[in-house]
Amino acid sequence: MASHDELARRLDQVRGEMARRGMDVLLVGPSTDLRYLTGLDLHPSERLTLLVLPADGAPRLVIPRFELPVVSGMPPGIEPLPWDDGEDPAAAVAALLGSGRLSAGLSGQTQLRFRFAIEPRVPHVRWMDGDTVLAPVRARKSPAEIEALRAASATADRVLADVVGLPIEGMTERELVTRIRRLIAEHGNDALTSGLAAFGPNSASPHHESGARAAAVGDAVIVDFGGARHGYRADVTRTFSVGTPSVELLEAHRVVCAANAAAFAAIRPGVAATDVDAVAREVIAGAGLADRFTHRLGHGIGLDVHEPPYLVAGEETVLEAGMVFTVEPGVYVPGRFGVRVEDVVLVTADGAERLNGFDRSLLVVA
Ligand code: ZN
Ligand code: ZN
Repeated sequence: MASHDELARRLDQVRGEMARRGMDVLLVGPSTDLRYLTGLDLHPSERLTLLVLPADGAPRLVIPRFELPVVSGMPPGIEPLPWDDGEDPAAAVAALLGSGRLSAGLSGQTQLRFRFAIEPRVPHVRWMDGDTVLAPVRARKSPAEIEALRAASATADRVLADVVGLPIEGMTERELVTRIRRLIAEHGNDALTSGLAAFGPNSASPHHESGARAAAVGDAVIVDFGGARHGYRADVTRTFSVGTPSVELLEAHRVVCAANAAAFAAIRPGVAATDVDAVAREVIAGAGLADRFTHRLGHGIGLDVHEPPYLVAGEETVLEAGMVFTVEPGVYVPGRFGVRVEDVVLVTADGAERLNGFDRSLLVVA
């Protein structure tokens, strides 16, 4: 979906970061990083495919020759360098790198086997973490990216509106996930294989593997899902109650919503990610539940559902307008129930905007 102009801007921005950090060339294999820079959504495979992006000079895409038709829509200015089965693509990459001293960044999503194949041929290369130049650029979303993220989250909200109307009592977690995936597709997002439903005691496991448990009266219900629009992800969580909730569930939910609201109110340009995490943690600790909030507050979201910046203790990244991440405090009581309330949030010029508007209260489902 990214226009050639937008892709060119991204390459320029990444090259700017490379110049600042003394990185002469950046190597990127099939991944969301490659999609971000070229628009190409290629599947990782053992056959070497690498974008070789010099700080100065034309980018090349080393790729199996028979896959050339797949990259025909590549933006102008990126020149393919095809290789045939039986040839050594690592030698082609080494030739591009040349024999002079240089610093080469490798994106973290690129398969290590590519580096292992190339490294012995270029002992003069100093290897760097390519994410240091990719992450800061990817973290600042363009207007087109924000539009896609907004559409993805709005769709997730519409799915939630349908989910609360479902007869959930008696349904298994797996059945609910199947229904949610169908609804995601019906409402216009690409339905991905991610997404979970957790009932009763299972909701106390933040990354529960949805299974055969059927929802019973008194269960807390956590649904956490998203889908994607033009590759850009949604990620929303709500907690419901099957029938009247217990006093403990109500109270935990109140605390989680207060933490969500306090964190949201703290988000604006100039604030460190670690401090937003701390604000939410303080609210939950104030209710005596500090040890029940067992994960970070949130994660950046874009082409990946989890990407920088992370809202986590010690993360000193300073928030900037255009960053998009989740705010998802939770409280988990093993053997009993869990509560999580998650929204995608955009940092604006003077504060923040939630991209999810769906009711955050503890809705009762049938
Ligand atoms: Zn989620
Ligand atoms: Zn999340």
